[in-house]
Amino acid sequence: MKKLVVLSGAGISAESGISTFRDANGLWRNYRIEEVASPIAWRNNMELVLEFYNIRRKQLFEVEPNAGHHALVDLEKYFDVEIITQNVDDLHERAGSSNVLHLHGELKKARSTVDENLVVELKHWELKKGDTCPKGSQLRPHIVWFGESVNTFPQAASRIRQADLLIVVGTSLLVYPAAGLIDYVAAKVPVYYIDPNAEKQAYRSNMITLAEKAGIGLPKLASQLIKGYR
Ligand code: NAD
Repeated sequence: MKKLVVLSGAGISAESGISTFRDANGLWRNYRIEEVASPIAWRNNMELVLEFYNIRRKQLFEVEPNAGHHALVDLEKYFDVEIITQNVDDLHERAGSSNVLHLHGELKKARSTVDENLVVELKHWELKKGDTCPKGSQLRPHIVWFGESVNTFPQAASRIRQADLLIVVGTSLLVYPAAGLIDYVAAKVPVYYIDPNAEKQAYRSNMITLAEKAGIGLPKLASQLIKGYR
């Protein structure tokens, strides 16, 4: 089976109702990033950071995967599909994708502040001051904040190096180091870029662009690839 690697960003979840980073009506609008998504913010104002992620987590419990997520699941019958996502939501997993690597962490998980390998699943949307890990320290959101290292980057780069096909979807390709991942793809590997703004942003000469929403563009591309496979 050919290896089909997918790099997804906030745009794939937009049609499920989760706003993107730069969306004018997005959740981020009411917060300055450095006040809610950095280690300094956590030290200075833990309650505000917890509140920010609690709002996002609560929303996540209320939304469902969309046609874009489902199209990637359909492709698993024909390709060895490996997803790398910048998203912290779990919509790829809930759609049924079996191989998902999160670059920036997971909203429904929390981790110990004394042992970063101690990660727990959250069954409820609310994480509060005083919620502790099995070692007794405060739990923090399992999110890669600005200024923290992306520990899954080497694994993601290795997946992209081995790709026979690459789909980039719903990402502005502006957030590094994630955006730099596409430079690891081998020459001659077809790279499909699905994003309503595909032609305006981050275009590279090896890309086949589909300026569509993920919920339209991904099912279209999936049926094209499946036809080619048969
Ligand atoms: P971004 O906000 O920088 O870019 C979003 C992209 O989605 C844009 O290129 C936009 O044109 C595109 N888009 C908008 N609607 C779309 C649709 N219906 N279908 C396809 N594309 C659509 O997002 P990013 O590049 O992923 O980076 C933002 C960072 O913010 C990431 O690191 C991520 O961790 C975080 N984030 C995650 C979520 C989530 O987990 N769902 C949501 C917001 C932000």
